[in-house]
Amino acid sequence: MILILSKYLGPCYGVSNAFNSVMSINSDAKVLGDIAHNSVLMEKIKTKKNITTIKDIHEISRGDTVITRTHGITLEELEIIKEKNCQILDQTCIKVKNVHKIAEKSNLQEKKFILIGNKKHPEVIGIVSRCKNAIVVDSIESAKILLSNVQLNQNVVVASQTTFDEVKFFKICEFIKKKFPNLRIYNTICNDSIKRREEIIKISSSVDIVLVIGSLKSSNSVRLFEVAKKMAKEALILENPKELDFEKFRLKNKVFITSGASVLKETALEFIDKIFYFCKKNSIEIDLKESL
Ligand code: SF4
Repeated sequence: MILILSKYLGPCYGVSNAFNSVMSINSDAKVLGDIAHNSVLMEKIKTKKNITTIKDIHEISRGDTVITRTHGITLEELEIIKEKNCQILDQTCIKVKNVHKIAEKSNLQEKKFILIGNKKHPEVIGIVSRCKNAIVVDSIESAKILLSNVQLNQNVVVASQTTFDEVKFFKICEFIKKKFPNLRIYNTICNDSIKRREEIIKISSSVDIVLVIGSLKSSNSVRLFEVAKKMAKEALILENPKELDFEKFRLKNKVFITSGASVLKETALEFIDKIFYFCKKNSIEIDLKESL
């Protein structure tokens, strides 16, 4: 079996920073939702640290220590945390904060702010909370409908959810450009997502199966899985090494393994160790390669 490993296995720097800093705290803390969308990462944190995940910001009490997730929180949530005199451990990724600043500036300048992204994603909800004049679109069709009432001479600012599909982003921008002459576009898609996506596009069609390590709740992992499903003969997405079924790999000559941005390196290595173990048990030789 030729086992090709992604150059980017493991977390992005935003998730890596958040994980390391949460693992170094010594007090009890609450986090609104998951620090990153990965249950294995969250389990690892919770076995070592007394971190409680809350669903609603009103579950915090005066003086609590509150961790913000990498996707960021809304302005209203931030105000509640401050009002309750909580200590904030801000783990919002710097790339997400950059989009927050663009939204805030558009708000101050009273410009129309168009965010290209999934309106239900916590990152998007956090960004648009910072601008009264925001519209979220995720396709040309939704842009046609949602922008139909916006005045054509209005000053418009466009940005993107950090993990949005870049090809789709540019197509939607092309449409918006034709409509609004006074336009400023910020491509705020994170480089990490772009690199992982480019690599999977390059490799998927030449292998028998692609394994994406990541969660179906994680937008960048799902995006990688969508590419693999389209381009590879077979594709799998698994979050936990316990889910690995070697029968899926037994007769495969070429296997590519990649991961989403919220997967810990040690989790990716557990998957690889398991494949090595099964291959050894079944007398299958492995030729290990790193993607070029
Ligand atoms: S994928 Fe990019 S934007 Fe998202 S947490 Fe990682 S570095 Fe930050």
